[in-house]
Amino acid sequence: MTNKPGDMSCEEFQAQLADLIGSGEDISQHPHLMQCPRCRALLADLQTIAEAARQLLPAEPPEDDLWDRIESAIQSEEGSDSKP
Ligand SMILES: [Zn+2]
Repeated sequence: MTNKPGDMSCEEFQAQLADLIGSGEDISQHPHLMQCPRCRALLADLQTIAEAARQLLPAEPPEDDLWDRIESAIQSEEGSDSKP
């Protein structure tokens, strides 16, 4: 438990990468990235993909669509007494 953040392995860092990106923090300042060119390259790739995906996505956020489908699924479950 005495590990400094910069001492983490690439595996450990990459396991946290999605959370770090999702948190909105400036992860380019992460200590592991300072000493690890491989993870810097990985992050650059991910950001390129994320940027491309953002441009491909429709204006409507996918979460709303997903929630609509969940809601209507719940409602149809409650509203009908259909048996298989
Ligand atoms: Zn690394």
